[in-house]
Amino acid sequence: MDENSFAGADRASDPSVSAGLSPAISPLTTPELSTALLGRYAGPCPRYTSYPTADRFAAMIAGEGSTANSEGKPWDALKDVETLSLYVHIPFCRSLCYFCACNKVITRQYGLASSYLDRVLEEARWYRERVAGVPVTQLHLGGGTPTYLNDSDLTRLVHGLQEVFNLQPGDDAEYSIEADPRVLEVETLDTLRGLGFNRLSMGIQDFNPDVQRAINRICPPEQVRALTHAARERGFRSISYDLIYGLPGQDVASLERTIDTVIDLAPDRIALYHYAHLPHRFKAQRLISSDLIPSPESKIAMQLAAARRLTDAGYLFLGVDHFSRPDDPMAAAAARGQLARNFQGYTLMPADALVGLGASAISYSRDGYWQNHHGQKEYASAIATGGQAICRGWQLDDDDRLRQWMIMELMCHLRLDKRAIVLRTGVPFEQYFAAELERLQPLIADGLLRDNVDDLEVTERGRWFLRNIAAAFDRYLHGSDPQAQYSRVL
Ligand code: SF4
Repeated sequence: MDENSFAGADRASDPSVSAGLSPAISPLTTPELSTALLGRYAGPCPRYTSYPTADRFAAMIAGEGSTANSEGKPWDALKDVETLSLYVHIPFCRSLCYFCACNKVITRQYGLASSYLDRVLEEARWYRERVAGVPVTQLHLGGGTPTYLNDSDLTRLVHGLQEVFNLQPGDDAEYSIEADPRVLEVETLDTLRGLGFNRLSMGIQDFNPDVQRAINRICPPEQVRALTHAARERGFRSISYDLIYGLPGQDVASLERTIDTVIDLAPDRIALYHYAHLPHRFKAQRLISSDLIPSPESKIAMQLAAARRLTDAGYLFLGVDHFSRPDDPMAAAAARGQLARNFQGYTLMPADALVGLGASAISYSRDGYWQNHHGQKEYASAIATGGQAICRGWQLDDDDRLRQWMIMELMCHLRLDKRAIVLRTGVPFEQYFAAELERLQPLIADGLLRDNVDDLEVTERGRWFLRNIAAAFDRYLHGSDPQAQYSRVL
């Protein structure tokens, strides 16, 4: 589709926006979304890219098979998987964005990145026997800034991964990379496409020059436009932009101007994240004056305005910050009830397991999660000692598995079949989840959820509060150890 024909497209004439679609992608309407309602659910809440959430992981050491909550090695289940996702964390960045809460290393010493790659490839070899021959249907490079790597090292990385893993060729597999448009040459797009990458995710945040200065991330829209065109010309079939609201100096009018520019550029997918200002936890954020942070009311107004602008232009709201064009496969997957969720948010191709390589990377299998050391020194030393860097994780028990499935159902399919739960537990839903249903009463009263005889059903309004709905089923959030500090919803 020509990108200009998308902006302001007549949604009524678009067949994918007609009746009969899953409620997950019905056109977004925002009636009765009052400031008071949004404010009521704006407090800290996990994003549920995993369950249990990563802050609950306990010490876990490869070779000893021990966790705080049970004995076991979740990576043993890799031998039974039929498809695999691969994630590689590239933590290096050329300069510091003041809002950043990622695991990153700001450096101009390129040699650090090159030797880090040696370690990542060493770690990959630790998995060789464990995943022998399993088709890898999804590869994602995240960061940090994966495009910090030069073309030769990007090639070295992918070729090195190919020596260990069975990376599937062609566009049936999903090869995606997070790109910083300030650190991406058009020639690198050729290299990436040649290596099989077909999805590009660009961190935009905001186009307003004042906001860009306040967060130390200057990137003119022309640069993004040129890269977007170049990526399309080279056959990248999905381009995604990350935007943030609640940044210093932002207001509704300036964010709307950014959204208008974005709509003009017509990315296939958009993630619109809330900025959580937590300077006590993230050192970089201390460089932002708290006086410049918009008020909670202003953030709510921004979220509403941005979402309305996007949906008026034809984008579909998938839930939890994510929008897609109606012709994007993500919209079709939502319509078929085939969306899933992983650490990158919504995904089309959930594999049976994920292997995460690099500092702080998280992996999972049907039996649980495991995560690498966060710091460069610890990661390097662990790889040098044992070829892997696992330090914490979680072995799932039956109750975890049940709740994990329920949270995914609610967040991806907006419905929870009570009968399926009775089949799994042998106990009536209302009995097993009496405390959870009690917690949900205010949300039901607010019209976010319907408690039907056979299912729980997220309403149109409830799609804005999927994190809050899911949180009702989080056993650990409501347990005796409220240790976690989550970002606010708004
Ligand atoms: S926002 Fe991205 S580019 Fe900026 S410092 Fe953080 S990881 Fe690096």
